[in-house]
Amino acid sequence: MRRKIGFLALCLTVSAYAAEPFDDKFRQLDEILPTPNVYRTASGAPGHAYWQQRADYTISATLDEARRALTGSEQITYHNNSPDTLSYLWVQLDQNIYKKDSDARMMLTQPSREAWAKATSPEDGYKFEGMRGILAGREFDGGFKIKSVATNGQPLKHVINRTMMRIDLPTPLKPGEKFVFNIDWSYNINEQQVLGGRSGYEHFEEDKNDLFEIAQWFPRMAAYYDVYGWQHKQFLGTGEFTLEFGDYDVQLTVPADHVVASTGELQNPSDVLSAAQRERLEKARTASAPVLIVMQEEATRAEKSRSNASKTWHFKASNVRDFAWASSRKFIWDAQGFKKDSTNVMAMSYYPKEGNPLWGKYSTQAIIHTIDKYNKYSFDYPYPTAISVNGPVGGMEYPMISFNGPRPTKDKKTGELTWSQQTKYGLIGVIIHEVGHNYYPMIINSDERQWTWMDEGLNTFVQYLAEQEWEDKYPSRRGEPRNIVDYMRSQEQVPIMTNSESLVQVGPNAYAKPATGLNILRETILGRELFDYAFREYAQRWKFKRPTPADFFRTMEDASGTDLDWFWRGWFYTTDPVDISIDGISEYGVSTKDPEKEKAWKKAQKDAQPVSLSDQRNKALPKRVDAHPELKDFYNEHDEFTVTNKDRNSYAEAIEKLEPWEKKLLDQGKHLYLVDFSNLGGMVMPLILEIELKSGKKYIERIPAEVWRYNSKKITKLIVTDEPMVGLTQDPYWETADIDTSNNAWPRKVTQSRLELFKTERDKNNLMRDFNTPLKKDEKK
Ligand SMILES: [Zn+2]
Repeated sequence: MRRKIGFLALCLTVSAYAAEPFDDKFRQLDEILPTPNVYRTASGAPGHAYWQQRADYTISATLDEARRALTGSEQITYHNNSPDTLSYLWVQLDQNIYKKDSDARMMLTQPSREAWAKATSPEDGYKFEGMRGILAGREFDGGFKIKSVATNGQPLKHVINRTMMRIDLPTPLKPGEKFVFNIDWSYNINEQQVLGGRSGYEHFEEDKNDLFEIAQWFPRMAAYYDVYGWQHKQFLGTGEFTLEFGDYDVQLTVPADHVVASTGELQNPSDVLSAAQRERLEKARTASAPVLIVMQEEATRAEKSRSNASKTWHFKASNVRDFAWASSRKFIWDAQGFKKDSTNVMAMSYYPKEGNPLWGKYSTQAIIHTIDKYNKYSFDYPYPTAISVNGPVGGMEYPMISFNGPRPTKDKKTGELTWSQQTKYGLIGVIIHEVGHNYYPMIINSDERQWTWMDEGLNTFVQYLAEQEWEDKYPSRRGEPRNIVDYMRSQEQVPIMTNSESLVQVGPNAYAKPATGLNILRETILGRELFDYAFREYAQRWKFKRPTPADFFRTMEDASGTDLDWFWRGWFYTTDPVDISIDGISEYGVSTKDPEKEKAWKKAQKDAQPVSLSDQRNKALPKRVDAHPELKDFYNEHDEFTVTNKDRNSYAEAIEKLEPWEKKLLDQGKHLYLVDFSNLGGMVMPLILEIELKSGKKYIERIPAEVWRYNSKKITKLIVTDEPMVGLTQDPYWETADIDTSNNAWPRKVTQSRLELFKTERDKNNLMRDFNTPLKKDEKK
């Protein structure tokens, strides 16, 4: 029977137009994901032959404060742990993004001529800062000046390809061998607020001091790995980086009155810190609140003089993939130790007085909160320090150190310090985010130049979890499904699985959408227990290693025991939004076959129909049979709803033939509803049905997304209830980011809104009135 209908339908379709290809939302991902191998398994774990390269660095650098320049010498020890013989090495020269003819500059485009000319608000107009940046970039003498590349004093042949440098090896580097070489370099430091970037200096006009945030500051080994070979895509600005782990031994020479914050542990405190500072640091280790190492009065005093001497700060860091630092005489410095399980870390904040009182109150607390919460969802923080620095950079992460921007606003006249709610939560949020990056991607070393979402998305997700444990109803920007709806409705979108440099709407795409997707997986699809186990398993498997998207997708499925290919396919590989609609509902009761009940039911249905307009109007007309009752007979009393003896006899006969279980079914009194759902958005999702009964009772039925497996566009679902259903709502808690909730309820709900009425402004453009307006005199200050 079913087959026959199917055949007929097929014939009809073919004769009218070609059959639409079946859109299988549950098709497995194997055809897209790379084939598992000895380096990366089908379950998403590192394989038995997993390998990665290693690069150790010894660097000494000098900050020339007056010239705002950095000069350095480094020795790189490169370990070839791959099974391949290498005839050249690639080194990243990120500073070259500041060269006048850099790709990043040359590739800049504007939204459109219309957008440029017809700004409708200050938001999409061209800002002073934007124009200043473009013009200053044409003047700034940026980029690395490479003085020498050598091994054992012998120059090495090298070629610079914009932000990358190839070094040709004198003899091929075999598996298991290492190669030691030296690079001498210098560069001019960018003014971050003019030229942008993830590092740079900030100038404070009031006290004429600078604050330096230094990152991506030395030639670094490009990654070489099993999936891509050399990762030497040009640095264009959005795609950050992926690097090799290694040990760092770094000497930083700065003006003697500077305080340095850095990746790693300070090796020579007695050379650079006062006895009082060392004592305060010791106290901070076990303190229950942040302890000031440099107090505000001390920092403000330091701002007023200039030392001509210099000091060298010596830091060491092991098993890190990068190294960054900051330096200024403006720094206030506070610290507090945090010990839990295998974590033993000194949380430290460095900020100018312009950051207070917000920074003293929140920064170090936020660092400790981050580590406490991220440990829970990932792994124990393994490094000895975790630092948050306030300077020009809005938010950027490096191993053990992060740069965070928000500050209070100072009234120019009164000096009063105030801040918006956005600044307060923006500060706590950005510190959680940037310190959280220690986990993703500083330790779970994903390839940021290829996939922004692998660190930003995962990190934003854990940031959301941590924020929600900071205070009740913390106003997280990203993570809640309802917050992604506007983006999911928007026109210009690319899939999450798009290379970092081709992303459109980077924030929503690479931060918010993956974070929201993980939240939906956790709350709606897997549940917290299965999700948290799988997510932690991913973190554990890949810490200090380099995962790819497939490793993440596979681990989440492998450890949760759930096929999530449909979710990755829809949420990560397409831009389809969720829009599930309740199209229609029919109620069915099971016929009891009892003529007394069934004919009464049919009569009630008929009586419930509206009375026709003619019948309403004819009702008052006098009727002949009323005037002559003798005209009435049997049919004036009975109609098709009258139960006859014949009906009763056949019911008795029929019941006799039924088995007891069949009789019981006729009597169960359940209410059956056939509900049509359509998937208008394209992305399949579980159905979350809130069923409201006549008695007022409400309950939720959760139906897995696989309900869409035979037809991803339209399905009909049977709902059985004990009493009449009076309302049905799909996704009542807005947990699936459904972009149109107006079609989610039956009966449809009225949308509440407010209409604003405005006064008409008469004679708006009155040149004569404007001309006659008295000129305002200069107010005396
Ligand atoms: Zn980030």
